[in-house]
Amino acid sequence: MSTNERILIIGGGPVGTVTGLALARAGIPVTVFDRLPVPAADHRAATLQPSTLDLFAPLGLTDEILRQGIESPVFQWRDRIRDEIVAEFDYRMLAGESDYPYVIQLEQHKTIQIALDAALAEPLFNLVRPVDVVAVRQDADWVEADVRREDGSVETHRGRWLIGCDGGRSLVRKSIGTSFEGFTWSERFNIVATNKDFEGYNFRYRNYCAHPDRWCALMKVPGENHAGVWRCLFPAHEDESDEYVMSDAWIRARFAECLPGDPDGFEIIHRNMYTVQQRVAGNFRGGRMILAGDAAHVNNPVGGMGMNSGLQDGLNLVGKLVEIWQGAAPDPLLERYDRQRRLTAIKYVQAQSIANKKTLDERDPALRQQKLDDLRRQAADPVAALEFVRRASLVSMYRESESIQ
Ligand SMILES: Cc1cc2nc3c(=O)[nH]c(=O)nc-3n(C[C@H](O)[C@H](O)[C@H](O)COP(=O)(O)OP(=O)(O)OC[C@H]3O[C@@H](n4cnc5c(N)ncnc54)[C@H](O)[C@@H]3O)c2cc1C
Repeated sequence: MSTNERILIIGGGPVGTVTGLALARAGIPVTVFDRLPVPAADHRAATLQPSTLDLFAPLGLTDEILRQGIESPVFQWRDRIRDEIVAEFDYRMLAGESDYPYVIQLEQHKTIQIALDAALAEPLFNLVRPVDVVAVRQDADWVEADVRREDGSVETHRGRWLIGCDGGRSLVRKSIGTSFEGFTWSERFNIVATNKDFEGYNFRYRNYCAHPDRWCALMKVPGENHAGVWRCLFPAHEDESDEYVMSDAWIRARFAECLPGDPDGFEIIHRNMYTVQQRVAGNFRGGRMILAGDAAHVNNPVGGMGMNSGLQDGLNLVGKLVEIWQGAAPDPLLERYDRQRRLTAIKYVQAQSIANKKTLDERDPALRQQKLDDLRRQAADPVAALEFVRRASLVSMYRESESIQ
């Protein structure tokens, strides 16, 4: 059994890795466990918001993220029925409020790797992978994680606190026994990547295209050697089989709806179908175990908020654990963490990601027009546009979260 003078983090995704780095930098020994031998190069989060970049700067991560990523200051809403641009929102309005008034588009696994490279240079950071954490438990003074290695052997690690950064199906959340209220969207989402360049068609690097049946989100990520890859998110109808939705024919039909020209000319680099949920844990803490990231809340990807809010959970929590490590009473601080991060996850991330999705796929013609007109009006009014951009970039969420006592 290992020494208990450390914090255990279950999950070395973006949230676990960055949280572990920040704890080690603050002088707290940390062990991160993950079942994957290396970060998965799947097509998940691609968007780093200004509020996250501001928080990354003191960790020394931002320069490398800017070097590898694509700077994307403007995002676009389109109406696919009328084939017109409805609104564009410019993050440069945040100059003076953020040192990074733009989004950086960068694949999630590259963000993890940048944080991991920094963390592995820290003597207090310990990474154990590939291992499956099969059980966690706690007593008044300690936490334990049972960890199964690839050869089947199980060892127990002990620490003072345990952070569940183990994703949407979190074992830690289940162990705390808290609820995970919310719902699952009825449609499946197909995320497709292509090397076809959409830039020539008046698209920005982030685009949301509204349509009652065939809405889509299109964005550019760096790909290999900065060659550029476009990621396209399409909804699948309930009566379309999984096999059909994953076929070239289905994907090429979706491309043809977005772009003029020959859809057969595009190389399909990747495709992945998944269901999407909107859920928030009933409590982000159970005794000595605390939740952060997808373990605490999940949402649809429209707006690029899930990973960002998770990273901000982790960095908020680090400040509190440092005070606790130095002798502060844990309960007031960890109860404040729960209030700050859970309430704002509901008010901002859940509300905004649901509203974004409902604007994209609104079926009622009058309501649809009203929602699109509303976007148009907000984009044209500098005060309303700034408010919109603050919400979209999680600047408002960060500020409100910090203000909650
Ligand atoms: C298709 C898609 C697109 C998305 N796009 C965006 C976007 O543009 N912007 C955005 O902000 N968010 C986006 N998201 C959401 C984002 O990917 C997640 O919010 C983010 O991955 C959460 O990070 P995490 O570290 O909390 O959890 P995860 O990334 O899920 O990491 C959890 C880690 O824990 C490990 N683990 C879990 N259980 C165990 C166990 N028992 N033992 C050992 N290891 C374990 C896993 O191997 C994994 O590495 C998207 C998600 C999807 C699916």
